[in-house]
Amino acid sequence: MKHILITGAAGFLGSHLCDRFIKEGYKVIGMDNFITGDIRNLEHLKSNDNFEFIEHDVTEYIDVDVTLDYILHFASPASPIDYLKIPIQTLKVGSLGTHNLLGLAKAKKARLLIASTSEVYGDPLVHPQTEDYYGNVNTIGPRGVYDEAKRFQESITMAYHRFHGVETRIVRIFNTYGPRMRLNDGRVIPAFMGQALRGEDLTVFGDGSQTRSFCYIDDQVEGIYRLLLSDYAYPVNIGNPHEISIRDFAEEIIKLTNTTQKVIYRDLPVDDPLQRQPDITLAKKLLNWEPKVEREEGMIKTFEYFKSLSHEDLFKREHRDFSKHIKP
Ligand code: NAD
Ligand code: UDP
Repeated sequence: MKHILITGAAGFLGSHLCDRFIKEGYKVIGMDNFITGDIRNLEHLKSNDNFEFIEHDVTEYIDVDVTLDYILHFASPASPIDYLKIPIQTLKVGSLGTHNLLGLAKAKKARLLIASTSEVYGDPLVHPQTEDYYGNVNTIGPRGVYDEAKRFQESITMAYHRFHGVETRIVRIFNTYGPRMRLNDGRVIPAFMGQALRGEDLTVFGDGSQTRSFCYIDDQVEGIYRLLLSDYAYPVNIGNPHEISIRDFAEEIIKLTNTTQKVIYRDLPVDDPLQRQPDITLAKKLLNWEPKVEREEGMIKTFEYFKSLSHEDLFKREHRDFSKHIKP
């Protein structure tokens, strides 16, 4: 039986990856410190003999006493409001955390896949974004803590690959959505769906002409799975190229949720990228992968999930206590 360690297991992507690898017959070890995750995302695996959970901050030395064949490093705050609130932890998990996981992969002779992001392209001047574009990132802007941590993560991963011969994979993930996203994490889909469910107006930032391209979780997981098992060490974009402006997207959500609320406009956050669309030519060729789930279908499934949450979850204004994760 193959063993796989998944960091960020209590988060949105990490918990779906745990499910996928359990389904494929792996022994899965999930690791998380719950800084942005939720134990409820793993509740259904609690009594599964092939699942084990370790509560741990990956920026601290990682000790795992079993053999490991694969490691997926998905621990990191991922929503702009999360990484604005915890900038130092965001920098540390991408840098120190990745360093620890590379050391672990080297010691265990395991293959490590790291979760990179479309944010390495910053506010892109090339459209759609291909893997050979170097990006346009403001190092000192508020989003820089995430973007630069992820860029460093890619660099140190390639260095371990070249210098120590560690087997590594790098996925550049474009906006992915689906059940188990945190309703209050501030990302646009939970934000709009939460507002629709609470009967509030939908807040579009800026004039809403900025674009994004949304990928359903099942497609993303399939792409990551294929990349892990491939023999390609350079970055690969995984995302859905179907691009839409945020203004049109808000209208789409209003229709889909049958809400009578309207769109209201708020200030555009600093350095918010104006356009984003993955070029997935490489993933198609290399992994024979492309997304299958249409936006409407994925949005309906996601809305069903948010509808199933309790009244308390829906109306709870989240004030996460990050202080226990901050060292004096
Ligand atoms: P998430 O916030 O739901 O999950 C992240 C998980 O990592 C959480 O459970 C959190 O508690 C955990 N974590 C954070 N710091 C940690 C630490 N120091 N030690 C242990 N655990 C820690 O976010 P997500 O959307 O599931 O994102 C997962 C990964 O995918 C991240 O690395 C993110 O950068 C990347 N990614 C996601 C998207 C997306 O659209 N969802 C896009 C690009 C990249
Ligand atoms: N956005 C918005 N209203 C919201 C939340 C987000 O208009 O309530 C916009 C945000 O400014 C960005 C886009 O939606 O242009 C996607 O934001 P998200 O936080 O989901 O992720 P990003 O792609 O910016 O990392």
